[in-house]
Amino acid sequence: MAHETLAAAYEKTRGLDWLKHWLWNKDIRLRRAGPQALLLAVLSAIALFVELAWHHGALSIPDALTARSVVVFYNVKSLLLADVEAPIASLLITASIARIVFGIVIALADVIFYKRITGRPFDWEAMINFSVVNVVFLLTATFTFMNPALERVLLRYEALVQQVPTLIQLNGTLALVLACFVGDFCFYWSHRWCHKIRLFWNLGHVNHHRSRNLSQLTQSVDPHALILDTAGGKVFVLLLLPLMTRLFALDIRGSGWALIGVMALDAWTDSSHSVTLYHAELRFRALRMVRWLLVTAGVHYTHHSREEQHNISDGCNFGARLTLWDRLFGTYVEPPQYIPDAGLFSDKSDYCRTPLRFLFHPYVRMYQELRQNSPRHWPAIIFGSTSYKPPVPVHSEY
Ligand SMILES: [Zn+2]
Ligand SMILES: [Zn+2]
Repeated sequence: MAHETLAAAYEKTRGLDWLKHWLWNKDIRLRRAGPQALLLAVLSAIALFVELAWHHGALSIPDALTARSVVVFYNVKSLLLADVEAPIASLLITASIARIVFGIVIALADVIFYKRITGRPFDWEAMINFSVVNVVFLLTATFTFMNPALERVLLRYEALVQQVPTLIQLNGTLALVLACFVGDFCFYWSHRWCHKIRLFWNLGHVNHHRSRNLSQLTQSVDPHALILDTAGGKVFVLLLLPLMTRLFALDIRGSGWALIGVMALDAWTDSSHSVTLYHAELRFRALRMVRWLLVTAGVHYTHHSREEQHNISDGCNFGARLTLWDRLFGTYVEPPQYIPDAGLFSDKSDYCRTPLRFLFHPYVRMYQELRQNSPRHWPAIIFGSTSYKPPVPVHSEY
């Protein structure tokens, strides 16, 4: 009887092992022939559609046509179109649609030219995996911003920030230029802290850095979930930006045609994970010269490099649009004259190729670290520097 029970229990475990193998351990790689090839084609088409329609904004084009406001430059408060002259307003709408279309064209160009540029075949399975993960992250983002408790906290914080005195009050083109620098300053520090603090790196931003087959289409967004909403360091941006925009009261409405120019720069630098744009930089010196001011695809791709020389202690090239803050704070690294391998340092950095493992492995790892170490090490395990290793480390190559 006891024997039978043990045998049954063993069979049950084997059954779970099979499930675990497929949902957790299996590095999904489909064959390029027969039914698996057909499955790959169907899944790739769905993932491609989801990525272009949602993540790259194709579905938002109709909304952009009738929008009442536009974001001229990321992290700069959106501009009410009624507040600018009519010809500029209609050009801004055209430019905002062109920005979306440009991103889509670049994403497609990356798929088409990926092998020719990198010498490696485009990784369709990675794209399918990232697409599933991105949908989960983007859905949880919707939930996060609808969360009334979080909204109340942010409103209270913004009310508190109103007590801070304003240092500089400007309007016109100068205000626009300064607003861009302030916006990127907030992103720079948020992003840098996301690489520095264990909580935000291990449970958040590391996901954006997993892809070893990085392109505009196979980039993973950062996870969004309550305080872990680290969309490039959103937590810190949400704290820093209200403070900075209070210190610098910048009215960009009267900037005239400069708004169009700034929006064009924003569109150009938005596709910062593109191998096609990096390749173009390698060929044309004029595009490389842009780097003295702007974060080109080469600059941000180097931020994703897994080569030791591109990593100054905790990383490099943290800015999203401007290279100024990296140059000023000593974290700028000139992109190499080749496209470096992207990803984490470990060879298995993108092993999390099943969506479930990708989504939950960071939490499992943090839980194991806490469980295996005494509570007095918990603050360091959660909030310590990313270079901190717990006394009892968790063996994990990814
Ligand atoms: Zn990063
Ligand atoms: Zn990135």
